[in-house]
Amino acid sequence: MAETIENLTVNKGLCVSCGICVGVCPVACISFHKDKGQYLPQIDNDKCVHCGGCADVCPSSIKGEDYEKYAQLNGCEWREETVLYGADIGCFSTYCKDLEIREKAVSGGIVTLLVLRLLAEGLYDSAFLVGENRYEGQVESGRYTAGMLLDGTQKSRYVPVSHAETIRYMKKHPEEKLIITGTSCAVHGILRVIDRLQLERSNYLLLGLFCDRCERDSIVDYFKGRRPKKRVTGFYFRTKEQAGWPGNVKIEYEDGSAEFFRLRKE
Ligand SMILES: Cc1cc2nc3c(=O)[nH]c(=O)nc-3n(C[C@H](O)[C@H](O)[C@H](O)COP(=O)(O)OP(=O)(O)OC[C@H]3O[C@@H](n4cnc5c(N)ncnc54)[C@H](O)[C@@H]3O)c2cc1C
Repeated sequence: MAETIENLTVNKGLCVSCGICVGVCPVACISFHKDKGQYLPQIDNDKCVHCGGCADVCPSSIKGEDYEKYAQLNGCEWREETVLYGADIGCFSTYCKDLEIREKAVSGGIVTLLVLRLLAEGLYDSAFLVGENRYEGQVESGRYTAGMLLDGTQKSRYVPVSHAETIRYMKKHPEEKLIITGTSCAVHGILRVIDRLQLERSNYLLLGLFCDRCERDSIVDYFKGRRPKKRVTGFYFRTKEQAGWPGNVKIEYEDGSAEFFRLRKE
């Protein structure tokens, strides 16, 4: 009987809530529940067929020997000295020259620019990004196609994002060319899915977000809880609209008012 993620990673506190196990499960027996401020996967043991898929794709079950394999999958040569940031083809420092895009982004807006251009030019069929700014449940990535506005997708979400829907879509449409944004752990899980399901690596542009760490979902509950009588319609970890980079936390309320919390002294 193959191992599941329960003992391998979740019970050891290693789960990053990426939802990749949920998306890959062939019998849909994994669901999320919120536990101590984090969404964690739970297996319905009556339905589980012990195929080992969840453990195989979970980025937290990484083994040392994987590094070389995934470098090859990415078309890179594995070198031991790159263990901390992964095998690279090249390194560039860029920002988007379109001011409207750049001002809405937390960083340089290059991800949004790339997605817009690649979809518009028909080089990719769709993109999986994050449009969530309300945080009423688990944050999930969603599908965007050419011509759709990406205004609501910009900015970083510093909480775990579920890629379950992305993986389901990859399984259902293996021939489609997709752009997927994700933190490094999610990207690693997606590479494992490509490998396990024998998908065509060149069909996927994986835009890995430089990531130091993220918060638990309870950070948003904390901010929302400060005004329990006011319904939150928008929450932004960092917006540059008040004081430029690195930006302030912004909360929008149903009555049209907004509050900012400073991240730095001006
Ligand atoms: C959890 C987290 C930690 C980070 N830590 C660092 C850091 O330590 N140092 C640093 O320099 N930068 C950090 N970043 C910023 C990150 O590197 C930038 O998002 C990236 O550089 C893209 O900037 P941009 O202006 O081009 O993004 P944008 O043009 O605004 O595009 C960002 C895209 O990523 C998507 N996205 C946002 N959050 C997530 C998410 N959590 N999972 C999947 N997709 C998402 C958005 O929907 C959007 O499509 C972090 C981001 C995240 C999400």
